[in-house]
Amino acid sequence: MGNLQAFESIKKVSDKGVSVVIPMPIQVVIDDVGWWSGEDGSERQEPYRTGISRNHVPGDYQAIVELGKALGIRPQAAIVLGEWDKQNILRKVPHSTWMGKKWDNSKWVGPWLEEAADIINNNKDNFEITMHGLGHEWWTDGKFTRAEWAANNGVMRPKEDIERHLDAFAEILKQNNLGELPKSFVPTAFRHGFGVTPGNEVSIAELLAKRSFTYINTPFEIMLNKEHVKHGPFGVDSGILTVDRGNDLLDWYKIGGKPEGTINGSTCGMHWPNLLHEDPERNLEIVERWVKLLAPYNDMQTTILAKNSVFFQQQLVHHKYTKMKVNDGTIILNFTDTNQLSTIISNNELTVKVSSNRELVFSSDSINIVSISSKKENNSILYILNFRKKDYEGAIVSFV
Ligand SMILES: [Zn+2]
Repeated sequence: MGNLQAFESIKKVSDKGVSVVIPMPIQVVIDDVGWWSGEDGSERQEPYRTGISRNHVPGDYQAIVELGKALGIRPQAAIVLGEWDKQNILRKVPHSTWMGKKWDNSKWVGPWLEEAADIINNNKDNFEITMHGLGHEWWTDGKFTRAEWAANNGVMRPKEDIERHLDAFAEILKQNNLGELPKSFVPTAFRHGFGVTPGNEVSIAELLAKRSFTYINTPFEIMLNKEHVKHGPFGVDSGILTVDRGNDLLDWYKIGGKPEGTINGSTCGMHWPNLLHEDPERNLEIVERWVKLLAPYNDMQTTILAKNSVFFQQQLVHHKYTKMKVNDGTIILNFTDTNQLSTIISNNELTVKVSSNRELVFSSDSINIVSISSKKENNSILYILNFRKKDYEGAIVSFV
């Protein structure tokens, strides 16, 4: 595990052979899911899409599910829905496609839509729909600029357009029985502004919060107003947790490929082709590589793979702000700083990992211990404790 040293600096408190960590959660986010054409059409004013030299198939959705099942997680599929439009409603949504009012999606309407929707709907614990966009870019008179939700410099597109694109996204989900608007968002081409951007009176976060979104994932490096972020790896924008995606391990157009290196933040970001094989029958070979890369982050004391994005949001806040002490058979948790954040999602649940040189029994009157699991490794035992808060301000957990 030499390449995971980056996480050794994560704060750990210890006493007499027992060490305690609130591990950093790692969320898997997969962009540009949803295209049926794989073509990178950018040279002829069509979207970048995935760049894979074949059409996409329902098996490409199954690949995401298999990654989720193998790791016990719910990967976020940041989805583009233009090619799921069965009724050509995008004709009436300005700037959404290269064809404008002549939008015709008939070539991508077929049984594969239902097959893919079934895979998504039958595997909700291992596949989360995250909003990415309709057409990914922003077209004016048949020519695109980047990107759909914000201009190249991160300034939000006009509010009326944002609302229309949100309505259309919800409508296409409905056409395909894919449920309501999701609660998470990845801006296309990562063009995004934190808070209100020049020429606007509201932020996109505020518009999304009104539609029950709770969380945005995007790299801060190119985000407009990043200097307004107050909490390092994440910010709170109209109650929406906005998380720094950092850098992906692979380039967006890399098909298959061998993921290697260290995830250096709380997001394992990738693009759909990174998880797929040119021959869809062989997708699982690529999925297996990601499982191998990611599994150690669950095994370490300092990190944990987020089982879903709600857990992720809560755990990230606890990881950053909840204070801990351990002494004489007690773990003391203090939520004062954590509670200062006004995120839409509550911080009711958290996970703590305890490493010990002997077997321990845990108990508490001030917090619910939802579950405890453990794993023996060499001369120590690693416990994973899932808590649900009872008391708002803090908790004491005893162990013997
Ligand atoms: Zn994208």
